[in-house]
Amino acid sequence: MDERKILLVEDEQKIADALKMGLTEDGYYVEAAYDGTIGWKLFQQNKYDLVILDINLPGINGYDLCKRMRNKDANVPVIMLTALNSLNDKIEGYDSGADDYIIKPFEFKELLMKIRVLLKRTSHQNIPVGTVLKAGDLEMNLDSKEVKRGDTIINLTAKEFQLLEYLMKNKNRVVSRSDIAINVWDIDFDTNTNVIDVYINYVRNKVDKKFDRKLIHTQVGMGYILKDNP
Ligand code: CA
Repeated sequence: MDERKILLVEDEQKIADALKMGLTEDGYYVEAAYDGTIGWKLFQQNKYDLVILDINLPGINGYDLCKRMRNKDANVPVIMLTALNSLNDKIEGYDSGADDYIIKPFEFKELLMKIRVLLKRTSHQNIPVGTVLKAGDLEMNLDSKEVKRGDTIINLTAKEFQLLEYLMKNKNRVVSRSDIAINVWDIDFDTNTNVIDVYINYVRNKVDKKFDRKLIHTQVGMGYILKDNP
């Protein structure tokens, strides 16, 4: 696994250096900034897996910095690090978009645990929610079974969906009727049957008819092709 990159923004150099050392020993790559302005600069220039932010900082304070970071990257986990210990400060921290909060002085182990929890959570987020096939403005979500052209929802029967899925997976490639028969119907059709052409027409009526740009094309004597580009 790649080394996880952490941005640490803390103006008390002793604390910053001690944290950096501890986290480095634990296998993280840490970049430290001693004020908010430099922290913001580093954040804009690099991609971090997690941010540890002090609240009272010269330059830009932790709350404002956290808001800016949130606007730029909604997913990066942020842990606020502070000596302040009132409920209002915590609320302001969460309002500015922090994921967790740790009060100084703290046990290094506690910070490590919070980092692990947050990194685990974001690595799960990176798994795509659904597999989506795209061709032009046509989108097919293989998990939710939703099909759209632009904003228009297209309702397909199960077989039409399978046929379109097969064409999409082979987009920009001519597929023969027997390719379709084997892959979509799971059988070798009698070459005289026109069931495939009938289904292609059903799908065309739903996917192409109302739209200027046609995606599904007939390749005479060879089969069909779904084209990304006109
Ligand atoms: Ca401080």
